[in-house]
Amino acid sequence: MIYKKRTIPNELKALLSLNKRLPNNHEKKHVVRKNLLICQAGYNGELEFDAHIKEFQPAYPHAILHDLYLQQDGAYFQIDSLLITPSFITVIEVKNHKDKTVIKANPTQFIRVFQNGDRKPMHNPYIEVDRKIHLLKNWLDKRGIQIPIDGILAFAHTNELAIEHPSPEMKTMLTYEAPAHFRSLPIDEQILDGHAIYNLAHALLEHHKDYNPFPLADLYDIVPEDIIPGVICPSCERPGMQWGREKWNCPSCGHTGKTEHHQTVQDWFMLIQPKMTNREFRYFTQLNNRNVARGLLSKSGLQLIGERKAAHYILINEGQSPNR
Ligand SMILES: [Zn+2]
Repeated sequence: MIYKKRTIPNELKALLSLNKRLPNNHEKKHVVRKNLLICQAGYNGELEFDAHIKEFQPAYPHAILHDLYLQQDGAYFQIDSLLITPSFITVIEVKNHKDKTVIKANPTQFIRVFQNGDRKPMHNPYIEVDRKIHLLKNWLDKRGIQIPIDGILAFAHTNELAIEHPSPEMKTMLTYEAPAHFRSLPIDEQILDGHAIYNLAHALLEHHKDYNPFPLADLYDIVPEDIIPGVICPSCERPGMQWGREKWNCPSCGHTGKTEHHQTVQDWFMLIQPKMTNREFRYFTQLNNRNVARGLLSKSGLQLIGERKAAHYILINEGQSPNR
């Protein structure tokens, strides 16, 4: 049973919005676009894995949790997908990139082969997975749970993979092979019964916290003034919607709507800073009426803090968008 579904990651949401709001000639445009493509490909690979793992419906009790972000020993670790069965736990790491990957053993080496034939060594993902297993083991130890934990590395099906002999230290496969792999594993010993699996899945959900890279302008060292303000039209994707007759109007394509500023407010929090004044709202939506701004802000699902000059708005739940 799936206890946690995957949703679009904060980092991807923020990169999509930064890419829209950064001028094409900006010096950071290239790196933003590159990271956006990497992030998007990673997410697509994970969605592909999720679609395949739905086929895995064993008769024994089990739990699947996608995209967990946990803290242990002062370190954060992110798990793409986790499978809990009565006799073992598997940490699944999903990779997706368009180049060929060659995996060599003794010593383990990951080499990326580009379309033009160039070869470049990659970070060894087994080390990444081992670190996650180690931290998860400590997390479980603290809760009195001792169960074998292993890891698998799953590549999206479009990835070209060349595993050279001898076979690598960790199970490595394409995403569609994962259900058959899990079906082939015997459940020898019942360490966790159905009730314990349920409780563990809920404890993990309780301790999960969405990874939050905001504000992205800081992360990419971009001055906020370089970020293009304005309400972006959801229909033609151009900024510059104007408020009139109680709604937002797109001068480019004629689209109208009442809630388009919600995304603009979300963009501010993701890109610029975790608070927003009435003046900042007017700047970022390019609205000149203070009272209209107050009215719109009051319906944006934000929390008003302070009075008069100190008044500002924050998100009600840190890391959550106003329209979620
Ligand atoms: Zn438009």
